[in-house]
Amino acid sequence: MRAVLAPLDPTPAQEQLLRSYCGASRFAYNWTVAIVKENLDTRKKERRAGIDEDELTKSLSWSAWSMTPLWNSVKDEVAPWHRNVTWHAFCSGVTNASVALKNHDDSKKGKRKGEPVGFPNFKNRRSKLSFTLIDFTRVGSWFSEDSRHVRLILPRLATDPRITRRREQLQWLHTTESLRRLKKKVTSGDWTVQSVTISFTGGRWQASFSVRQLVASAPSAVRQIGPLVGVDLGVKHLATLSLPVGGISDANGHVANPHHLDAELERLAKLNRQLSRCVMGSKNRAKIIMRRQRLHGRVTRSRELYLHRLSTTLAGSFETVVTEDLDVIGMVKKSNKNSTKELRRSILDAGFFELRRQLNYKTEDRGHRVIVVNRFYPSSKKCSHCGETKAKLALSERVFECSNCGISLDRDVNAARNIRDEGIRLLTNEASAVAGHQPETLNAVSRDRETKPLRRGRGDRYQSRTTQPIREFSPLA
Ligand SMILES: [Zn+2]
Repeated sequence: MRAVLAPLDPTPAQEQLLRSYCGASRFAYNWTVAIVKENLDTRKKERRAGIDEDELTKSLSWSAWSMTPLWNSVKDEVAPWHRNVTWHAFCSGVTNASVALKNHDDSKKGKRKGEPVGFPNFKNRRSKLSFTLIDFTRVGSWFSEDSRHVRLILPRLATDPRITRRREQLQWLHTTESLRRLKKKVTSGDWTVQSVTISFTGGRWQASFSVRQLVASAPSAVRQIGPLVGVDLGVKHLATLSLPVGGISDANGHVANPHHLDAELERLAKLNRQLSRCVMGSKNRAKIIMRRQRLHGRVTRSRELYLHRLSTTLAGSFETVVTEDLDVIGMVKKSNKNSTKELRRSILDAGFFELRRQLNYKTEDRGHRVIVVNRFYPSSKKCSHCGETKAKLALSERVFECSNCGISLDRDVNAARNIRDEGIRLLTNEASAVAGHQPETLNAVSRDRETKPLRRGRGDRYQSRTTQPIREFSPLA
């Protein structure tokens, strides 16, 4: 599954319709959360009153499968206006709510990793505007002849003359970017559109096509190590490559960090000051909020564009890209004593997670791979020349000086080389691995699996490499 984005440019009449769809989706979401909440509360009360477990009000199933028919049975009553909104909008609201409920339930039962997920909140007028159109074969083509319009599904049984009279004008949403490439992939049968989510994001309307690849690119079973690059991620330089690549890095392999957010901080602060002077609920305030949204949207888009350029080059030029498994969430936690507010902002501004995501799918597309080095691998503390590991290396020390062999290297270059060597070691192990052994080679599925921490008692795993010679690989060989 992957998403393809298209910025939309709706007419005022279309925008009105889009807003009504978003509102309907929100309505169905809140309805679902409310009936589940009511059901839970009733059962709790009955239990407190001492009623037997078997005699309690039946508990509701939270799945979208059972919730959607329930919604259909009551919609005439709770939303008599439902005919003027497409059924898809309600369906997406109910589905999203049941997913949120499931996430909460899984989190409570310990089946879900990460931060605890609370019971879903109700959405209000200021919540994000979005709804999803699900593809059924009846939809027909999502794209217009000229590839510059996206189909908007209209309510079939609408009674509102504003919709019935101008179905033709409402049906196609104009996009400012051509969808030719996506259309070609879909018509040739390589991809299939599963759903289209339309949302108001970063101060503009956009359509996100959720597509599935039908023909999987089958990677060959036995692979040579091939051209390989080690990538060290950082804040001073966004990335440092173990060898320089023309167009994206300088001669040392450093990829500059553009600090997209820092460039706009002043403007952002000005908008915030203006906002604080506005009267609550005034038109002016709404205007400034919109301006701030657009600014954030612009920052996000330029960050993504930069990362796309980097990931495309890396995934295209190398068969194997070795990166480290950064604990971004841990690094930006307020409890982390080592990070300042500015550092935390820079870490999030860099977009490491997005880079990993892009690298994963782009390497997979090309039959290449991403190797993720263990989070506890001491990439910056180790000498990439002789293998000596330092006990401590402050973040302020930009040059790595080895006390063992006397080499002096840029801190990040040293780390990138270590990551490259560790990748080679993992690959060599993989090649000679016995059947059933799980190497730490991860591709697009990496988010589902976790890199296992070092087991105790085998602590010297990395030290043992000091005796092995360093293998050099020529770029693009
Ligand atoms: Zn050394």
